[in-house]
Amino acid sequence: MLLDPWSASGIDDYEKLIKEFGIEPVNSDIVNSLPKPGKYFRRGIIFGHRGFDVVLAAILNGEPFAVLSGIKPSGAFHLGSLTTAEQIVYYQKEYGATAFYCIADVEAFCDNRIPYEKSFKIAIDNLADVLALGLDPDKAYIYRQSEEKRVMDLAFEAGAHVTTAMMKAIYGEQTVFGLYMTALLQVGDILLPEHEDFNGPKPVVVPVGADQDPHIRLTRDIAKRLRSRYKFILPSATFHRLIRGLDGSEKMSKRNPMSYFELNEDIESIKPKIMNALTGGRPTVREQRELGGEPYKCRIYELAFFRIDDDSFVEDIYRKCTNGELICGDCKAMIFEKIAAWLKEHNLRKRKMLDLAYKLLEEK
Ligand code: SF4
Repeated sequence: MLLDPWSASGIDDYEKLIKEFGIEPVNSDIVNSLPKPGKYFRRGIIFGHRGFDVVLAAILNGEPFAVLSGIKPSGAFHLGSLTTAEQIVYYQKEYGATAFYCIADVEAFCDNRIPYEKSFKIAIDNLADVLALGLDPDKAYIYRQSEEKRVMDLAFEAGAHVTTAMMKAIYGEQTVFGLYMTALLQVGDILLPEHEDFNGPKPVVVPVGADQDPHIRLTRDIAKRLRSRYKFILPSATFHRLIRGLDGSEKMSKRNPMSYFELNEDIESIKPKIMNALTGGRPTVREQRELGGEPYKCRIYELAFFRIDDDSFVEDIYRKCTNGELICGDCKAMIFEKIAAWLKEHNLRKRKMLDLAYKLLEEK
């Protein structure tokens, strides 16, 4: 089994990931220890971690730590991008973590052939989304990969410890060699919060989708090798489940517009995607009333599970679905209204953040 961070392939069974790659499960001890477990922890969306105990100890002892994540500026923010972005804001807001927000424009170039001038514009739009979600730019370091020399330096230093065989073992055979180079850049990104310019070693958490584990393994391995020089604390990661395609496909994909929606998208274009989504409903209303629906098969329930913060609302859907009180048509209409209202508010906030996003990136 091989995980490919550039295609999110290989993920169909999270239990298997835990067994095959030695990812540690996030159990109730961890969730209950967190003073403010966010919805992704409470609901088990974050299912695994590497070395999170170091970050947990920093949280419990009120010690400094950092959260780092990057977004590849290859298109508008969509449903799937929100899971990572909200976690950066969560650690910053709830526990005072310094946030490192990397705009992975080099990766967008190598993987998607997007020139820097174009990815700069996309990055402004993406950053405005993150600011609208609550990122405080005064307590964050926001940077473009292509402009950050310290990341490049760390990547080259990392490269001196990596063999071609290692890269192939972790990432498989990639035909574009630049992807291996961007993997080293990601090592530089993840180690950047521990750079002496940012007060040196500290716990760092990297919230990522399970498909990104190869970058985490490589970085932890290199951090160990560079430890005698930099005293790095091994970076930690948490792994979240990926929200599946609305249309029933296993993953959201640009090639399949009915599987996802972008936050910028017109509400009238989103509506049919929700109203035609795969549900866990029974073939007839009578059967649904008798047997109840199957929420864990249902992409409408999944949308509510990932996106709606109110636990009691989500629990209510589950209860009413499984006991046959709720019928899919009504349920879809209700969730659509909720999502549409959230998007309207979010986009209003976002519009006000566009100038700030431009300013923050232009200064880099
Ligand atoms: Fe999904 Fe709602 Fe239908 Fe249940 S009632 S299967 S949650 S759409």
